[in-house]
Amino acid sequence: MNDEKKKNRQRLVIAHNNCASNDPCALCGRRLDAEVGPELFLPDGVSIVCWKCGKEHAPELVAMLRARVAILAGAAEVTW
Ligand SMILES: [Zn+2]
Repeated sequence: MNDEKKKNRQRLVIAHNNCASNDPCALCGRRLDAEVGPELFLPDGVSIVCWKCGKEHAPELVAMLRARVAILAGAAEVTW
């Protein structure tokens, strides 16, 4: 691993957010309107992280969450 860009990246995970609390983002302190369901967390699985920070640290995970939202939003049109 010699990717300089990855050096300062905080590892994040997708975990199920089961409380929909108003906890601030663990990285930037921004207030979140988290919903129950998959959200970004620090590896401890407790400290929630906003999508803005997620895009900086784990853009691939944000892409997955965005895809999920798009699928849910268009669920009526999905035929499979
Ligand atoms: Zn943040």
